[in-house]
Amino acid sequence: MKKYVYYFGKGKAEGRAEMKELLGGKGANLAEMARLGIPCPAGFTITTEVCTYYYEHKRTYPASLQKEVGVALKRIESVMGMKFGNSANPLLVSVRSGARRSMPGMMETVLNVGLCAATIPGLIAKTKNERFVWDAYRRLIMMYSDVVMEKAAGIEAAEGKGIRVQLDKLLHELKIGKGYASDADISAEDLKDLCERFKVRVKEVLGKEFPDDPREQLWGGIGAVFSSWNGKRAVSYRRIERIPDEWGTAVSVQAMVFGNMGDSSATGVAFSRNPATGENKFFGEWLVNAQGEDVVAGIRTPNPLNESTKSEHNRHLPSLETAMPGLYKELDHIRVKLEKHFKDMQDIEFTIQEGRLWMLQCRVGKRTGTAALNMAMDMLGEKLIDQKTAVNRLTPDQLDELLHPIVDPKAEKASEPVAGGLPAGPGGACGQIVFTAADAVEWVKQGKTVLLVREETNPEDVEGMRAAEGILTARGGMTSHAALVARGWGKCCIVGCGSLHIDAHARTMTVGEKVYHEGDWFTLNGTRGYVYAGKLAMVSSTENPRFVHFMKIVDKFRTIGVRTNADTPDDAQKARQFGAEGIGLFRTEHMFYGKHSEQPLFILRKMIISRTEGERRAALAELYPFVKKDIKDTLAVMDGLPVTVRLLDPPLHEFVPNSMEERKKLASALGITVEDIAKRADALHESNPMMGHRGVRLGITYPEITEMQVRAILESAAELKAEGKTVLPEIMVPVVGIKNELDHQRAIVDAIYAEVCAKYSLKKIDYLYGTMIEIPRAALTADKIAETAEFFSFGTNDLTQMGFGFSRDDIGGFVPDYLKLKTLPADPFQILDQEGIGQLVRIAIEKGRATRPKLKIGICGEHGGEPSSVAFCYRVGMNYVSCSPFRVPIARLAAAQAAIADGARAATGTKPAPKKTRKVTKKATPRKRK
Ligand code: PEP
Ligand code: MG
Repeated sequence: MKKYVYYFGKGKAEGRAEMKELLGGKGANLAEMARLGIPCPAGFTITTEVCTYYYEHKRTYPASLQKEVGVALKRIESVMGMKFGNSANPLLVSVRSGARRSMPGMMETVLNVGLCAATIPGLIAKTKNERFVWDAYRRLIMMYSDVVMEKAAGIEAAEGKGIRVQLDKLLHELKIGKGYASDADISAEDLKDLCERFKVRVKEVLGKEFPDDPREQLWGGIGAVFSSWNGKRAVSYRRIERIPDEWGTAVSVQAMVFGNMGDSSATGVAFSRNPATGENKFFGEWLVNAQGEDVVAGIRTPNPLNESTKSEHNRHLPSLETAMPGLYKELDHIRVKLEKHFKDMQDIEFTIQEGRLWMLQCRVGKRTGTAALNMAMDMLGEKLIDQKTAVNRLTPDQLDELLHPIVDPKAEKASEPVAGGLPAGPGGACGQIVFTAADAVEWVKQGKTVLLVREETNPEDVEGMRAAEGILTARGGMTSHAALVARGWGKCCIVGCGSLHIDAHARTMTVGEKVYHEGDWFTLNGTRGYVYAGKLAMVSSTENPRFVHFMKIVDKFRTIGVRTNADTPDDAQKARQFGAEGIGLFRTEHMFYGKHSEQPLFILRKMIISRTEGERRAALAELYPFVKKDIKDTLAVMDGLPVTVRLLDPPLHEFVPNSMEERKKLASALGITVEDIAKRADALHESNPMMGHRGVRLGITYPEITEMQVRAILESAAELKAEGKTVLPEIMVPVVGIKNELDHQRAIVDAIYAEVCAKYSLKKIDYLYGTMIEIPRAALTADKIAETAEFFSFGTNDLTQMGFGFSRDDIGGFVPDYLKLKTLPADPFQILDQEGIGQLVRIAIEKGRATRPKLKIGICGEHGGEPSSVAFCYRVGMNYVSCSPFRVPIARLAAAQAAIADGARAATGTKPAPKKTRKVTKKATPRKRK
């Protein structure tokens, strides 16, 4: 017969820690603690299978459950030396929920079950504490009538009319009537009267008597916990956290112990190490003569657990270490035992009842990024965990936290954001707001710190974006211009903040009713997308040798390469320091934005406005030295590592100047009129530029543009080779959908290659010729494309755009609704849609490698730095991922964790490991690291 009830208590347990699916997190860990001989009040757990049964059988239980509960209850009675419902020596129990994964505060609990007319006098005689007993009874009536008789019965009370509110009112009235200042003034006699009034009110409001039978109370409590699995709060929490409905909750019934039985009783919560810093010191809070909820409720200031963790706020308060030294020692032993056993930092709850210590709960404790790093490295040093475990102890988000200055969490807690948007660039930033890029540059020159606030940004804003501490836009999605640029620089940025109404002319910004002016201070949390008015404190993440050491260990387990998307020698250098093993995407066009771009941009504009091939070639010849310098400097910085240089990608009209002043300058340089420029600009105008004349299509129409770029790449390579450098350029053609496009460009590359070899008297120059896979047709015909391409790099920004038919610059208008309605689980421009776009990726890899088995494959879309997408790239057999410099460590960690998880799956035989991927991008050249 199926077992539904698992007993635990006094050194014995039928369950264990590994049984979380059946017993829930709380039940499984209570069983484990009992097994370890740790003093926890005896109890039993009703399995999650009963929850499933309950919902499948019209809220009834399996036939054998009642008997099993009866047997387990007897065992509790014998271990605890008390009897449930017994008038002389009554046992009280708590009834609590416990899902596989913690769902804090989302389900119900009933305490003090078993108190009734028959047991109250016995408990008073035993405790000699009448007030305590009536207080416990009053709490039981409040909780039970609310949780069991109202909520679980499906009664939806009107706002402010719920039974709990009504009983609270009675309590409040009593205090006012008697002139009591605090709960402590209420006498036993008062409480006894109050309980009677409570029961009358329960009958009036709910139409039923409060049950006086302990067994009825127990089964009422069990049913209420099961039905709270489908309560509103729990259901919506599960949707957010993506916890499956089928999991169900377990119910743990456990003997009550009381921390509020006088001055030799106490209660507390603690962490086996400091959860904020990771310091290996027992850390926690406690209160004498109190119940668990009093510590967390914040009504009384809790005391520090020990002397060494006192702060200036609680220095004057007594520690448990000095107030109850023997018990503290016992608790400290338990802390050591639990850490040794669970091999991780534990979050524990304890109660001291009349000088006796009881453990009520333990679980793995939550921690900050800094704490996670310090604990992982400490525990590794203590030989508590191995290297694989250490690598898995930091989430990529926690790593991200370590890499950027952040808004001080304490300051954030004390403030309310005025607006929210998409978290496009990580970390925090604080500064005075300005509304134009020019102002940003100007103010920074004057020594001010600014935040650039724009409707949305465009390439002309880059200089101001660079100067600003952080960027805030009212429009745009996660791959909008502002987001891409900011992330590339590791700059704090929030985009798509729809509640901002910006008036750049008036230099104001309105949020709701409030108008803010240029120069007002704001703080951004770019990791979470929160906007605060005012100056919030920042915490800087400093260079940390432990971080460097940790990343070395991470790399031991990683089997795919991590490159960077870098557009300047500076970014390339930074990325190398972060551990990038090459450049996966060098966007040539970025030399026309930002610092030192005026001259090349002007020449590029001349080229664009040219009417004949001759004029165009002349402009290209003028542009050549700039392009070559940019490429050569970057190749030099990446000495020994591969660099993928992408040919010009954006539609040309993006570079046509809009301002009259710029147009005049250009017209006079070209000896034409401003009207001619306007005409040319009109001719370049496109209705759908993202699907227009861009990428390879430019190279087909104007082969001379490709020629110039390829020459710059190959001549740079030839010259650097002569200087003794190892350069590995990879020429990448963007926006390809047809093999013939790639062949057309290949012919140009071959011709230039021959010319350059002859010019430098070289037999060969090492380079690869490949393409981006960013158009669905390219993915579907990858076998053909691989006949010409020597490598693929997935441009998942465009692949997502064209696969979904979602304009990447306009998703701010509708994707937020999709997310709210759960039409989409996540923004597909942030997290790769493995189900749909992922299929295009798989097909392209399979087809490409069918033609060319050793085809080198990577990703350079924004997803290359997003942890779950990195794991996907690993699983489908890519050779590397490429991402912005600041995301390089995150991608390294995500790739290592994917490989470890895969090894674990292979070891347990749950799923065959994919073919071992080759480390094509890893070179023997020593890498510079931070
Ligand atoms: C892409 O499309 O994924 C890509 C990397 O190119 P871009 O973002 O420059 O279009
Ligand atoms: Mg693209």
